Amino acid sequence: MRSVSVFGATGSIGESTFDLLMRAGGPAAYRTVALTGGRNVARLAEMAQALRAEIAVTAYDDCLPDLRAALVGTGVAVAAGFAAIAEAADRPADWVMSGIVGAAGLVPGLRALRHGGKLALANKESLVTAGQLLMATAARYEATVLPVDSEHSAIFQALVGEDMGAVERIILTASGGALRDWPMERLADATVAEALAHPNWAMGARITIDSASMFNKALEVIETREFFGIEPAQVEVIIHPESIIHSMVGFRDGAVMAHLGAPDMRHPIGYALNWPERLALPVARLDLAALGALTFRAPDEARFPALRLAREVMAVRGLAGAAFNAAKEIALDHFIAGQLGFMDMAGVVEDTLVRVSSQTRLGNAAETLEDVVQMDHLARIMAAEAAKKRVKGR
Ligand code: NAD
Ligand code: MG
Repeated sequence: MRSVSVFGATGSIGESTFDLLMRAGGPAAYRTVALTGGRNVARLAEMAQALRAEIAVTAYDDCLPDLRAALVGTGVAVAAGFAAIAEAADRPADWVMSGIVGAAGLVPGLRALRHGGKLALANKESLVTAGQLLMATAARYEATVLPVDSEHSAIFQALVGEDMGAVERIILTASGGALRDWPMERLADATVAEALAHPNWAMGARITIDSASMFNKALEVIETREFFGIEPAQVEVIIHPESIIHSMVGFRDGAVMAHLGAPDMRHPIGYALNWPERLALPVARLDLAALGALTFRAPDEARFPALRLAREVMAVRGLAGAAFNAAKEIALDHFIAGQLGFMDMAGVVEDTLVRVSSQTRLGNAAETLEDVVQMDHLARIMAAEAAKKRVKGR
């Protein structure tokens, strides 16, 4: 029986993963090692019981009594805190879902790779903050990283049986997010609720807002470069409002291979779960006649400065991704808290990159996790200062 662990089980990716595991037979089909979550311990306990997990871990110490109470007498062990989440990743499992949001997903992913199994990577921040380190760790332990981000799964699938040397370009599709049709001058006043109204995908709150600002696509451009090992100039972005084509690969003979499907994360998660097999999945089938037309437009970098910043980050590489992601997370925190305008998020990230690069060598390679963690901390401090200045300036 295959063993699995799910990090971020209570999130949007985690729920979809849980759904697929349960449909496959739950504890009759998989031996579940660890499930982790945050404050929603009731749901975490429910999932842990349904899958008969060995251990359930909450990220928060103060949630431990509730988690313990919910699982008393069930045989599921409990633990709390970030160290406990990392320790849960030390328990060997054949397939591990990296579904925590943000830079916090990096450590469990790196630790899980040491068992040489399969890491299904939804946590794109791992590749943005420490792409070279993550891929080198996978190679060292002969582990396999499988992309779960819908675009990267699409590209991965379009590349089956192909030679990377024949790839000319990768075209990432972007829905454009909730505010894609807003006039430019209104964007500065967009509220959290407005940015959360994603037209096509149901996702966690943070990635949904990142979709509206295109910071999500900016992270994905970097993710593409790091995962597929191609040059930044080979990565293109196109707005495709219907979210039916999940991404495309252009080859040197002029052919473009596109991956189409309903916007349902259970497809890329299921593909990674069953890889290298392709098994039946409970996703809606496309009715192309009903869709009628698929449309495309070029992204406007004035609306979406995040894309320009991603290009700058890729040019520097090294620790620039760690600084970029950390600054973005802080800017997003401030936007969610109502302390920063929608368009000011990119300003805070840019200010942070300028300040960090004046103090350290951003281009230095991330040799160790400690290098990444230090850069992450530094950028968070500077981003918080930059955010405060912007608020005063308003
Ligand atoms: P979410 O907010 O719905 O869930 C996040 C999960 O991580 C929860 O279980 C939460 O408890 C846990 N978590 C949050 N902060 C944590 C911390 N500091 N330490 C430990 N655990 C923590 O997020 P999501 O939308 O499921 O996204 C998860 C990851 O997948 C992100 O990296 C996101 O970019 C990526 N992703 C998501 C989707 C999607 O459809 N939701 C699509 C593509 C990629
Ligand atoms: Mg995506």
